[in-house]
This record gives sequence, structure tokens and C-alpha cells, in this order.
Amino acid sequence: MTNSHGASALTPESFDLMKDLVGKKAALLTMDLMSDESKLRYRSFYPCGDMLIGLRYAEPRPDGKGFKPGRSLKIMNGKIVSEPRRDVQFTPPLVPHHAEHVYGFWHINDQQEMVMNLKLGDDRRLTVLIEGYPERGRIDRFAWFCLECLNPLYMVEVETAKVGLGGYYAVQEDGFAVFNGDEKVRTCSSCGAVHPVAYSIFPWNDTPEERAARELW
Ligand SMILES: [Zn+2]
Repeated sequence: MTNSHGASALTPESFDLMKDLVGKKAALLTMDLMSDESKLRYRSFYPCGDMLIGLRYAEPRPDGKGFKPGRSLKIMNGKIVSEPRRDVQFTPPLVPHHAEHVYGFWHINDQQEMVMNLKLGDDRRLTVLIEGYPERGRIDRFAWFCLECLNPLYMVEVETAKVGLGGYYAVQEDGFAVFNGDEKVRTCSSCGAVHPVAYSIFPWNDTPEERAARELW
């Protein structure tokens, strides 16, 4: 049953597997990035098989001031690094990352993340977020470090697989309440700098103070 290259002929198990696959029912999953349905469905994260997908649109501001592109920041080698914008970027596990004006905290994920940056015409951009569907034991952390000296200020943690995305956002909200509710928590014990308040990925929920922070960092 072995040919001259050492490969075996098709085993009965392989034959059965292939036969099964041919007859298997599966759904094609497609998305139209410009449809209102996609914009709504993926505005947070939406499960696609073993992955979570999120869409973040950057469009010109309604006040006509023009779109201010934010930087993708990571904490690496003891400092805040602005990552050059590329078509595809990876964030390895446990690297704190923060997208300016998109969400106001450092996300620290036990798992790798991937983003794709697309240009939609001259004045619009889209970031496609792709990460593994949270497995049991994976911890998501929402953290704040002093922006001057990187002294740790505050952090909340959640096991997302256990509590679902609802729980993920609830823990974020709890973190925001503590962090935004007390200037002492936001004040660096090492250098005295006061951190701007936290804000979520949903700008339409911003308080005036959160809106101001979103402009800032
Ligand atoms: Zn500090």
C-alpha cells in the first residue's frame, strides 16, 4: 500500500472523512462592509465560527472639522510605542494596546489579535478586528497606566467565555465607574500626573467628560 515516495494509499478512514465532508451542510458567511446591516451587527464583536469579528468605521466628523486619525498605541519595552499603520497588524498575547479616540483604556488580551486596515475612499477608513472566540480561561483586562511614567493605576479583569460579551462590557462599565468616579484613582502615586477619564467603544453613550477624553487620548 506504499508508493515509491512513502505515501500510503487512501485509508478507509480518510475515504469516509472525505465522503462526509462532501455531503456536509455548511453556511457560507459573507459580509458587505458598506451595508447598514454589517455596520450594526459588527459594531461590537460578532461571533463567526471560532472567531470574533468587529468593524470600526472612521468617518469625517459631522461638525466638518475633518477626520482626525488616531494612533494605534502599544506598551512595549517599558514605553508607549506608536505602531506604524499597516494593512495588517498583529497584537501578540498580553501586549497592552489602545486605539486613540476609539476606546479609552488599555486592552490586555490573553490571546493574539489581528487587525486589517482598509481605506474606503479618500475620507473614510475601516478597521476590521479579528480575534479568537474567547476560550475558557482567557482573561480580558481593561487597564490604565500613568501616561507620563507608566505607573500602573487601575485594572479590571474578566473571563469573557464565562460571562459572554454582556459580562465583558459590564466589567468594563464597572471599571469606568471606579476609574472615572474618583480622581485619586486616576492620579499617579509616582509622578502625580492625572489621567484623563476612560471611555467605551460606543461614542453615542459618552458623557461630556468622556467626550472630552475621547478627543484627548
Ligand atoms: Zn506617573
